[in-house]
Amino acid sequence: MKLLWLQGLTCSGNTQSFLCAEDPSADEILNRFEVLFCPFLSWERSEEEVVPSILEGQEELDVLIFEGAVGKNLRRLCGMEMRKVLKKLAKKAHYVIALGNCAVFGNIPGKYSQEVKGLQYRFKHRGGVLGGNFRSGSGLPVINLSGCPAHPSWLSYVLLKILSGRDIELDSMGRPKELYAYLTHHGCLRNEYFEWKVEATELGRKEGCLFYYFGCRGPMTHSSCNRILWNGVSSKTRAGMPCVGCTEYDFPRENMLETEHVMGLPEELPLGVSKRGYILLSGVAKTFAPERLKKRLMDED
Ligand code: SF4
Repeated sequence: MKLLWLQGLTCSGNTQSFLCAEDPSADEILNRFEVLFCPFLSWERSEEEVVPSILEGQEELDVLIFEGAVGKNLRRLCGMEMRKVLKKLAKKAHYVIALGNCAVFGNIPGKYSQEVKGLQYRFKHRGGVLGGNFRSGSGLPVINLSGCPAHPSWLSYVLLKILSGRDIELDSMGRPKELYAYLTHHGCLRNEYFEWKVEATELGRKEGCLFYYFGCRGPMTHSSCNRILWNGVSSKTRAGMPCVGCTEYDFPRENMLETEHVMGLPEELPLGVSKRGYILLSGVAKTFAPERLKKRLMDED
């Protein structure tokens, strides 16, 4: 299968992330494809050489991976604006993958200009550069791998699925359900603290939940960060840092390390939890919280 990886407005964070893929490594994955061009691999052929050969029909395109947001008059390729090149290539591709939050939703560059978009979204609005109704040759819309950056295994998962010819089920925002049906909260080691409303008082500690004071978005962020760990060992919440919701359309937000409160209640509650339910459960949980959870873990006998 022939694969093309292009970049728009990007810090190359998703490239860096994918280079850290383990078991299989980035090399092991990409070696199963015929890579036509990839910014961190190709030196024999330039993108200026490869893109016209696809557009003129001399070369097939099975998988198009795009990293970064797309703006107007910001980047040109083969004498055309990148968004025009992208539209033409996407029509030829069997699968189109938007890699990272910039390619999916516009993300940080999108905050600076209305003209900057993701491939099929601009923040929560469907449309983007390719339009809301776009379908690639496989019949799928853009496969969105949101995240700032996306976990390397998420891209490996999608590429291996494509190679195996198995179906990829997508959620309402085009993200593979196997990866994004979960919340960051699922698998977080701090769940017991969350249940008993024992809050962290400092960043970087092992103890306490980061929801009430430190803006943790784990209970409302679709990602498998605590299920498929980073570098096989960790995640933000495991390291004592709140989830900042980087797989969602509203990332980045302001004051990402603080929880906004209204009359003592977090402004945003965990997905599906009512204010009444939260108040009732919090009161009971706090009253009966085990003393064990209020001590440092290492102080336990
Ligand atoms: S730290 Fe965040 S993800 Fe972990 S239990 Fe608390 S709210 Fe959930």
